[in-house]
Amino acid sequence: MRAPVDAVTDLAVWLRQQLDTDEQVARAASTDRGGSTPGGEHWRWECSNCDTPLPITPVTLLAEFMECPTCASVGVALRSVETYPIDWDKRGLPHFVVSGAEELRPVDGLHLQTHDPARVLRTVDAHRAIVDQLEQALADDATDETAQWMLRTLAVVYADRPGFLPEWKVDL
Ligand SMILES: [Zn+2]
Repeated sequence: MRAPVDAVTDLAVWLRQQLDTDEQVARAASTDRGGSTPGGEHWRWECSNCDTPLPITPVTLLAEFMECPTCASVGVALRSVETYPIDWDKRGLPHFVVSGAEELRPVDGLHLQTHDPARVLRTVDAHRAIVDQLEQALADDATDETAQWMLRTLAVVYADRPGFLPEWKVDL
């Protein structure tokens, strides 16, 4: 059985647990109808009326609401780029992440789309690789202040989660 997070004092162990959690959530969000996208789904906004993909450009970012260039609807849906098989359609269907939303600010839409599961999984992989390197550096020299600082800096990302110790804090 896993020890309660409060009891975990080792920063690298705790940091890996946070990365594991992020991975589990991103993988769970990348499944639909019994299928899954192992590398994580890519998400995009589409018109909920006519299915036109809605690219968010610097120009459309300034608009009040996301709007379909084809039918001018402000009804939007967040869907996966990847599709999953379905009996009645050989092409399959995307995962309907948000099946319908109205009057969404482009900046909010862009934020959600930017942090899709594929991005989260790439970030998790990158941070794990950095943690591996830092642990190795600290195994070679436990007084390596740069490695200690970098490990604590990675942990700051999760400072609002249970188990984060005040002494891990760094001034950024
Ligand atoms: Zn449309």
